[in-house]
Amino acid sequence: MQTAPDWSAASRETVANLQSMLRLNTVNPPGNEIGVARFLEGVLAADRIETHLFQPAPGRAAVVARLRGNGSRRPVLLIAHMDVVGVAADEWSADPFGAEIRDGYVYGRGAIDDKGMLATNLQTMLLLKRHVVDQGGELSRDVVFVANSDEETGGEFGMGWLIEHHPELVGAEFALNEGGRMRVVAGRFLYAAIQTTEKVPHVVTVTARGPGGHAAVPLAGNALLRLGRALARISDHREPVVIMPTTQEFFTTLSQIWPDDSVRAAMTDVVSSEPERVANGATLIQRTPVLDALLRNGISATMLHAGIRINVIPTEASATLNVRTLPGQSIDDVMARLGLAIDDSLVDLVVTARGDDAPVSDFRSVMFNAMAESARALAPSLAVVPYLSTGATDSARLRRWGVQAFGILPFPMEQDDENRMHGNDERVPVASLDFGMQFTYGAIERVAR
Ligand SMILES: [Zn+2]
Repeated sequence: MQTAPDWSAASRETVANLQSMLRLNTVNPPGNEIGVARFLEGVLAADRIETHLFQPAPGRAAVVARLRGNGSRRPVLLIAHMDVVGVAADEWSADPFGAEIRDGYVYGRGAIDDKGMLATNLQTMLLLKRHVVDQGGELSRDVVFVANSDEETGGEFGMGWLIEHHPELVGAEFALNEGGRMRVVAGRFLYAAIQTTEKVPHVVTVTARGPGGHAAVPLAGNALLRLGRALARISDHREPVVIMPTTQEFFTTLSQIWPDDSVRAAMTDVVSSEPERVANGATLIQRTPVLDALLRNGISATMLHAGIRINVIPTEASATLNVRTLPGQSIDDVMARLGLAIDDSLVDLVVTARGDDAPVSDFRSVMFNAMAESARALAPSLAVVPYLSTGATDSARLRRWGVQAFGILPFPMEQDDENRMHGNDERVPVASLDFGMQFTYGAIERVAR
């Protein structure tokens, strides 16, 4: 007979483990994740869970722990990264590595990105071991805990390293990773957005050419001014609206619950099949940049390079564009449209770094359903939607490798708390940490039942 977890004891254990990990400084670079890895190994070993600790490079680490199922289904991965971004400590009201609890929040660098998930994933392993495996229960699939390094800079010693060096340990049907959201709007827990796909990042260089010379003699073809005209045309250019199945489902569901009437109407319009309504809906939605970015390929100018002297006209001027294509959209098509918009034979466009597309995870899969059911069991009125993230995560790598990865940050939060990610006074509400722990346990218990 299996007993249900004691959730208040599990909450205290989760908070304590999170505090221990926040106090271990893993700012990347250099990362130095080995301290957190040894901590995790110790906690997992104390409950006799099979654990491997790897050191891809000095100070860098990966932990892979496994609860064995009966093998009837392929494994599920629980992924989080141990490294964190740097801090401007004098702009914090708390010690970034002190793990102080104040007014119901745990403060510390990594509280929401991503040591909070490390703590809730860890607790899920401990509870599954104690309340299922050790009590004669059976899992239909292996549950694999992965803690990796170097997510915040490049990922050379992260998930990619594990896939390359220990594919036998991390092969899986599904993965739960960071990348989604649980959003509280005006005090109301409104929706859970589970990331099933993400935009593909590319770098494009725009170069204008012209005659060089002494600045005392102005020249009509000045490369800087030509580049300026090209950038103005890029600024006016908008990529076409493309509604993917994920976006269709996202706006259809949110249109039923969104607090603002005009935005609800726009969401309904943009997923209709009538071109005029789609255009009207998109016009209103594009006032909100984070929503507009879901509708089309995005083009952001990020850097300028030109000139060496105040009195010399350079022969070349260039700008860097960060372009994010929707999954399935071609960067070459974007380049062709930009070329037409710029319409200048002395301006070149080159893709200097080309991103790789990845398959979309299925929002009708048993994994997505397990996550949705688990969330709704805790918050019945919650809307659960599949979500296209505009930022890139490790999940794209997993999807290309054949793992259906789903992204969530399982802590219900207001936008203000979420904005502290990578910022000052990063913190997680203890109540949200509890929610995330019970949510993760519920999702994994359901999918591995
Ligand atoms: Zn992260």
